Amino acid sequence: MAATIIDGLALSREILDELRAETAQLKQQYGKAPGLVTILVGDNPASLSYVSRKVKTALELGFHEVQINRPADTSEEELLQIIADCNADPDIHGILVQLPLPRHISEKRVLLAIDPDKDVDGFHPMNLGRLLVGGESITFLPCTPAGIQEMLVRSGVELDGADVVVVGRSNIVGKPVAVMLGQKGPGANATVTLTHTGTRDLASHCRRADVLIVAAGVAGLVSPDWIKPGATVIDVGVNRIGFNEATGKAILSGDVDFAAASQVAGRITPVPGGVGPMTIAMLMRNTVRSARKHLAEQASGDRG
Ligand code: NAD
Repeated sequence: MAATIIDGLALSREILDELRAETAQLKQQYGKAPGLVTILVGDNPASLSYVSRKVKTALELGFHEVQINRPADTSEEELLQIIADCNADPDIHGILVQLPLPRHISEKRVLLAIDPDKDVDGFHPMNLGRLLVGGESITFLPCTPAGIQEMLVRSGVELDGADVVVVGRSNIVGKPVAVMLGQKGPGANATVTLTHTGTRDLASHCRRADVLIVAAGVAGLVSPDWIKPGATVIDVGVNRIGFNEATGKAILSGDVDFAAASQVAGRITPVPGGVGPMTIAMLMRNTVRSARKHLAEQASGDRG
């Protein structure tokens, strides 16, 4: 039987509708909208496309959106100064620096320069540390892992006690999603295995998974015989496997052989239209949460 498709686009629209209402409520209460700055250095086509989607969504929600585009030869000092200005700006509640940065700029130094309380991407080591501690400590969840968890929860996938296998150990997807789903609490409490390039017999781990999350960046890595019948498969991979002359767009594929895997899995995410839109929705959610916190603090400071 063909798997049920987990429609990330539809789920993300649901979340964006909730955030639109929350944005209107914040404007009414404080007279200010959530403020998001997107910073892009250079003209990498994939980054341009990611940033423009984020900007469009922020504007649709009614955010105060500031787009800062700088040429590829922008110096690290200039970029650090832009970030310092945004850190100090009370109308900015979220700062997003689109990665990757040109080689002459240290990503580590740039991420460290962002105020952790405006780090809506959730990549600052302070926020990754808070994530590890869990519970009340958490300020921002990184967007792709948060999107994965949210889509599992909203699709009714049971995580409590489930065997979850994550393929890939990056700081932005694999490691944080493994930590999040292994935490005690609702929408988590799973038994998580984190696999990577050093894993012996990757297929045998994947075959045990009730929930298989693949974030390796290798097109077609997971074949259908790696999937337990009825399992939930979350395909995070976005691989450019060609170019469509007619549409002028890249042809994208995930890390899972989607057509064949759909015959084995119980539920599966498509690429595109799965994790990608959820990532953007979580960025917007982090910005709204940050705005709510900052605006409440400003209001109580004004009164004090
Ligand atoms: P990364 O390159 O930083 O990390 C990839 C990880 O996969 C590494 O830890 C590596 O050990 C592991 N890996 C690679 N090949 C493997 C193999 N053959 N067997 C086992 N493990 C292997 O990647 P990333 O930034 O985490 O991104 C992963 C993929 O997810 C990419 O395709 C990226 O474009 C995509 N992505 C999508 C979104 C989204 O919103 N849809 C967000 C982030 C990343």
